[in-house]
Order: sequence, then structure tokens, then C-alpha cells
Amino acid sequence: MDTAKKFRVTIDEEQCKGCLLCVHVCENRGGKILKESDKKTALGGVKPVAEGDCIGCRWCERYCPDFAINVEEIKDA
Ligand code: SF4
Ligand code: SF4
Repeated sequence: MDTAKKFRVTIDEEQCKGCLLCVHVCENRGGKILKESDKKTALGGVKPVAEGDCIGCRWCERYCPDFAINVEEIKDA
């Protein structure tokens, strides 16, 4: 993993049910940047939010049951 790289985390608000599994896995295996927000998703759960520098490990993508979270490298950073 190249820590000099920059990553953008996008959460699909229509698909995300707000289970916060991504927050848990980011906290325990990732870069500890996904947090609970004070907002609700379209499906009524708690919307996660990315705060800080994502390390691009993609554990959140692998664990999200609804394919609602996407991590992409920012090429022009
Ligand atoms: S794991 Fe997926 S569905 Fe659950 S809160 Fe995260 S993005 Fe939303
Ligand atoms: S890719 Fe890793 S560091 Fe970035 S949000 Fe997902 S779990 Fe957290």
C-alpha cells in the first residue's frame, strides 16, 4: 500500500442502509476514517462519513453488504 497515494470515498446514499459495518471495519482494519454522522440514509439508517485521509485498503468495499461504498484513487492529486 502506497501511503503517498490519495483516495476518495463515495457512499451511495440511495443504496446505503446505514448498518455501519464499514465504520466498524475501517476502525479495526482500515485507516480509522469512517465515522457515524448525524444524518440518515434514504433507507433510514445512520449515514457514515469519511473524515481524514483514506489509506485505500478497501476493507469497507469488501465488507459492505450492499455495494454502497466506493473507494477510488485520486489520480490528479
Ligand atoms: S457497510 Fe455499506 S450499507 Fe452499511 S453503512 Fe457502510 S456503506 Fe452503508
Ligand atoms: S479504504 Fe480503508 S481506510 Fe479507506 S474508508 Fe475504506 S476501510 Fe477506511
